[in-house]
Amino acid sequence: MTKNAERPRRHRIVARRPVTVMVREKLVCPYCGNQEEFYEVTENAYVLVQYLQNEDGTFVPINEEMEVSGPVRFYCGRCQADLSHLRDKL
Ligand SMILES: [Zn+2]
Repeated sequence: MTKNAERPRRHRIVARRPVTVMVREKLVCPYCGNQEEFYEVTENAYVLVQYLQNEDGTFVPINEEMEVSGPVRFYCGRCQADLSHLRDKL
C-alpha cells in the first residue's frame, strides 16, 4: 500500500454567491409561434457606397453610409405577419 492511498481525502467545497443570469423574454410570433426567423424592412433609406476601381477594372467598396428617413417594419420570417409593434423588445 502506498502512502498516498492512506492519506485521507479532503474535499473542499467553495461556496459562491449565486450568479444572476439575465434572461430575456423571447420574442414569439403571436400568429404562428415562430421564435427564430425574423426580418426587417427599412423604407426610404438613402444608401451611399463609395468604390475604388482597381487596375483590372473591378470595384472594391471602401465605405458605406445609410440614412433612414422612413419607418422600419419588422416581420415574422415564417408567416410574414407585421410584428413592428413588438420591435421595441429587440
Ligand atoms: Zn409568424
